[in-house]
Amino acid sequence: MNIDKLKKPNLLKLAFLIFPKMAENIKKNKCATCGGKIGKFKNELSKQEYSISGMCQKCQDKVFN
Ligand SMILES: [Zn+2]
Repeated sequence: MNIDKLKKPNLLKLAFLIFPKMAENIKKNKCATCGGKIGKFKNELSKQEYSISGMCQKCQDKVFN
């Protein structure tokens, strides 16, 4: 998975202004919430979710399952 091919979240969103640490993580190609490496995504939906929230698959699973 090439992170450069993924659409990144809009860092001007309110959540990222409130939590600048999350925006920092995304700029470094890290997961917004856990700060870990962005690994693989299960499907297109997960990729889309990344482009909104900046969460890696693991964090998405935690939130949505
Ligand atoms: Zn994560």
